[in-house]
Amino acid sequence: MDLLLKGGWVVTAARVEQADVAIKGEKIAAVGPDLAAPGAVVRDVTGKYILPGAIDAHVHYQMPTGDLLTADDWFTGTRLAACGGVTTVIDYAEPASPGESLTEALTKRLEEARDQACVDYGLHQVVMPGQEEDEAELRAVVEKGVTSFKVFTTYAQRLSLAAISHLLQQARRLGALVTVHCEDHEIITAKREELIAAGQTDPAYHAASRPAEAEVKAIRDVIALAGEAGAPVYIVHVSTGGGAEAIAAARSKGQQVYGETCPHYLLLTESQYTGPDSRLFLMCPPLRTAADNESLWRHLAAGALQVVATDHCSYSRVQKAAGTAFYNTPSGVPGTETLLPLLYSFGVRNGWLTLPQLVRVLSTNPARLFGLYPRKGSLRPGSDADVVIFDPRRQVTLTAANLHSAAGYTVFEGFHLQGYPEATYLRGWLIYDQGCFLGQAGQGRFIPGRV
Ligand SMILES: [Zn+2]
Repeated sequence: MDLLLKGGWVVTAARVEQADVAIKGEKIAAVGPDLAAPGAVVRDVTGKYILPGAIDAHVHYQMPTGDLLTADDWFTGTRLAACGGVTTVIDYAEPASPGESLTEALTKRLEEARDQACVDYGLHQVVMPGQEEDEAELRAVVEKGVTSFKVFTTYAQRLSLAAISHLLQQARRLGALVTVHCEDHEIITAKREELIAAGQTDPAYHAASRPAEAEVKAIRDVIALAGEAGAPVYIVHVSTGGGAEAIAAARSKGQQVYGETCPHYLLLTESQYTGPDSRLFLMCPPLRTAADNESLWRHLAAGALQVVATDHCSYSRVQKAAGTAFYNTPSGVPGTETLLPLLYSFGVRNGWLTLPQLVRVLSTNPARLFGLYPRKGSLRPGSDADVVIFDPRRQVTLTAANLHSAAGYTVFEGFHLQGYPEATYLRGWLIYDQGCFLGQAGQGRFIPGRV
């Protein structure tokens, strides 16, 4: 036995129990009371929670848009993940348009990550218009361990509803999961033109330019297509109560619809767009109302939404400051490092989630949905020893100066937290301990998903 975590509270998707955790090599060897482990290094974790490492199932590192690249690359992005108790991230392989094939994009993305990542990673495959037809390419991607596709209903890379329907049928045959960015393109385009015509182009109009009904309509449309195709579907970054409602309604009829939300949609409102730092809060979909916050918490607690991820897309302060209007300000915010502590403080401590639910939405559910379970998202013997020691008493006031994103800000500046990760183990390796990053570039591995 190499390491024994002694005296803590082990939290799994099912329960909380006082137990020790023994780690051998890169795997969990045993979980149980009063374990003996001759020769092992013993870490006393009395009073601490032992959680499976969190999975951030939605991140974008060094993502190109126009001539901009997001500030966190594979190294800084996964370093800050380690510091926040996140041991697996799932990024995107996106074909550079025009003409790059799915497998070319995937190979290139894996190459970028390989020597840089400090935590383990998976990928979702972005499918561009027309590529939903190429069954051989879709199959090749799944065989390489990418079991989820990502499509958009808006932006230049949007797929028509007919194309999404076609992809859903292909994915069903392959056992893969289609994930969708849902905002109705026509509604957004009309609203944007109306605001521009009225001279209302300030970033303060960002939320108005992408109204809630655009999300709700697109979610309803996509759910209907998935129902017709008999395919499961996963809606990324649900920002509205109405969207969560539509997902809950479909699920109650037995449809396999899954929903993800993000800490910023749970904790922040559109009032940020009238403040002095409005550009920093600009992401798509936009922040909504306090009623949406509450509805999202309620649906998360009830299990209608299954995953909380961050959509970490870290445009820097400088890149943001160059924006002059809602339509030319880089859209995206950093978030991975604060995912787990925010969900603990505002989810568990505020009574929305139990500790096992916290583990489900941050670890077990994303691991299951993206084909990583039980290697990831579990503390059972044989699983990877991805472990977070979480101190429920530690008080922290979030400030960008103490976080590790190259973005240089956090949208949660000044939030008071109780409970914070104390240490992070990746496959048994201590990669973060009490404020110090101890991992290294290239330590993270690609974890192929299995259908
Ligand atoms: Zn995203």
